[in-house]
Formats: sequence, structure tokens, C-alpha cells
Amino acid sequence: MKRKTAFVSDFDGTITGDDFFAYASEAFFDEKSLAPWRRFKRGEISHFEALRKMFSQIRVPLGKLNAFMDKIPVDAGFATAAQICREKNIPVYICSAGCDYYINYLIGNVIKKYDVSLVTNHGRYSPESGLTMEMPPADSPYFDPLTGISKAAIVNRLHKEGYDVIYAGDGLPDYEAARNADIVFARRDLLTKCREAGLAVRSFNDFGVINAYLKEL
Ligand SMILES: [Mg+2]
Repeated sequence: MKRKTAFVSDFDGTITGDDFFAYASEAFFDEKSLAPWRRFKRGEISHFEALRKMFSQIRVPLGKLNAFMDKIPVDAGFATAAQICREKNIPVYICSAGCDYYINYLIGNVIKKYDVSLVTNHGRYSPESGLTMEMPPADSPYFDPLTGISKAAIVNRLHKEGYDVIYAGDGLPDYEAARNADIVFARRDLLTKCREAGLAVRSFNDFGVINAYLKEL
């Protein structure tokens, strides 16, 4: 019998061109406001804490934030992937150590239309308090105190439920999840890291190559 398959994708830099954090740094942050990120790099605070502090410094009128988000390039091929998966009964997960505020803004319509499961931190925005992030509750199935959500935990849980897992990602935070997945599409740091580790991995530049694979399943 054919095995059940699930598709798990990172968001930042995988469905979008680059990290929300990178675009926000360019648009809103000066050297001083990047201090939390440097503290994270030195191992002094967690990834979640660094992002939470950074994002809360975005204090612009809502219209300006929306105009900023409108310029973030989104790979339209993800919607096609979600559609293909829907037709083939392949559950789709987006896992992100960022937050749902900008993910829903950018592709909330796709998430809803194709019943995609979004596993991420919760974010809300007001010009007074900035983009504020909160972690999922500690008893949620994919909780990780350092990032809010564990991508590897999603892959592992799907395995336990009997799924083969296809994973797509671009960064080092995807590595543990990719290492545990059955088929990996990678670019940038994740591609380099997987190749160094001798993992079988497929490179991708956009969702075209992923969708060609999904269609053949
Ligand atoms: Mg990424």
C-alpha cells in the first residue's frame, strides 16, 4: 500500500524571498535596535526573545507597515503546492519561528483556502506597542522554549502518525527537521549544511521544482 505523505514547509526565506527579520532590519532597524540580535548570536538570549524584542521596535502607522509587507516577495508557487496537496489528500504544515501576524497578512488566503496548518508564534500589531509576539502554551504539541515552536517536533509527530514527510526550508533552524524528514528540498544555508552532513537533499530556487515532485506522487 502507498504510504501516507505530509508536506512541511518553513515560511521565511522559503515561501518568501528572505526573512521578515531581514526585510524589517533594512526598513526599520538601525545598529542600536539590532542589539537583541547580537545578544542572541552571543548566546545570551533565546531566538524567541531576540525576535520578540526586535519586532516590538517596529512602531509605524499600520498603513506604513502594510505597505512594507506588500513589498515582501511571496512565491506564488506555494499556493499551487497547497492546491496539489489538497487534491492528493496530503496535509500541509507551515512551521515558523517567526509569527502568524505577517504570515497571515501575506498568505492567509492560501492557508484558509487549502486548509494549511500554521504552526508558529502568535503576533499582534499596534503602532504603540509594535509587533508583539507570544509563545504557544507550554503544553502545545510542538512547544520549544527557545524558539516557541519546534520544527523537528512536527516532523517527528507526523512520522509517529505514519506519514512520510517532505520538508522544504532554507536556513540552519530547519536542519533538525530536515535531518528527520524523508525528502528534503533545501536552499541557502540549509542546502550547504545538509550537503556537508552528507544528507540526500534536493536543491530548489522556487516552488516549481517542489510542485513537479508533488504532482508525481
Ligand atoms: Mg527560513
